[in-house]
Amino acid sequence: MKKIFALLFITTVLISIPLVAAANSKPAVTKIVFIHRVQDFAKPEGVGKPAKDVADYEFLPKNVKWTSLDLEFVINPTNDDGLSADSVATAIIDATNEWDLWSSANLFYDYDIASIVFDSSAVLDTDVRDGKNEIVFGTIDEPNAIAMCVVWGVFVGPPSARQIVEFDIIFNDEYYEWGNADDDSTVMDLQNIVTHELGHALGLADLYDSTMYQQTMYGYATYGETIKRDLYDGDKAGIVALYG
Ligand SMILES: [Zn+2]
Repeated sequence: MKKIFALLFITTVLISIPLVAAANSKPAVTKIVFIHRVQDFAKPEGVGKPAKDVADYEFLPKNVKWTSLDLEFVINPTNDDGLSADSVATAIIDATNEWDLWSSANLFYDYDIASIVFDSSAVLDTDVRDGKNEIVFGTIDEPNAIAMCVVWGVFVGPPSARQIVEFDIIFNDEYYEWGNADDDSTVMDLQNIVTHELGHALGLADLYDSTMYQQTMYGYATYGETIKRDLYDGDKAGIVALYG
């Protein structure tokens, strides 16, 4: 009888050790939050000194990126500014196309107005992620925060395990009026800002040196600004460095 117990004990220990080890070594998914703020010194298009190094870019910690692309997402177009769902979708699709234009990888799923997915239940995930990449309007309780991108990923552990697994983007509808700055220069241009936020979603970080104002990944923006709609040299170099 004692032998049987001993045998059971040893068997249990042998089986449980690898399980525990696997559980302990499984890297946790955590999040990085990027807040895009408004600044008085965000220079308008075509004004100011050229960037120090036009090919500058920054990655997320550990150069974490997606290991599988063709990224799908849903849009909750509900907003306080009277923007139609189609106009919201068009701005976002144009932004994804700009990133895809400069990479040989197929970064985002090739949506059009007919195939885009609207989801009125989509919200920004802050505590628990839901497996959906969501782009929404809502309240960021900080007047200087134009928008926010939450990037969920595995940022620790062996390099083979590190990856981005989800993103969520929110436009601050409480403190900013959104629209198309081509039509109204007093609004926060949706395409301009979402192009920047999608850069975070792909694995690029903010650039805060004011000489970097021409980059899409420059960390500040202002009303009527459209310069971030088009990738600049550093943005292009960064996305190619990540994905080819
Ligand atoms: Zn940013």
